[in-house]
Amino acid sequence: MTIKRVTTKCLMDEITRLRRWVHGLQTGLYVNCVYCGHQYAPKAGRDVLTAHIKQCPEHPLAAALERIKELEDENRTLRPGCEE
Ligand SMILES: [Zn+2]
Repeated sequence: MTIKRVTTKCLMDEITRLRRWVHGLQTGLYVNCVYCGHQYAPKAGRDVLTAHIKQCPEHPLAAALERIKELEDENRTLRPGCEE
């Protein structure tokens, strides 16, 4: 088990990062992933954010898509020759 040492500087840096992130949200200059905070310029388009969400390590949709794939793979092994 690794214990991460948290210093006052680490906490202040995180506060600064989060304040900048909130400022970016309030200006509307970015499109953000609400789960991890990844930002894109609005001109990047909605498709870029959608692609990010499908692979975001913190977004529940990514986990759900991975689980669906696992279940589809399992279903194929249980029902060989029954492709849909
Ligand atoms: Zn994300």
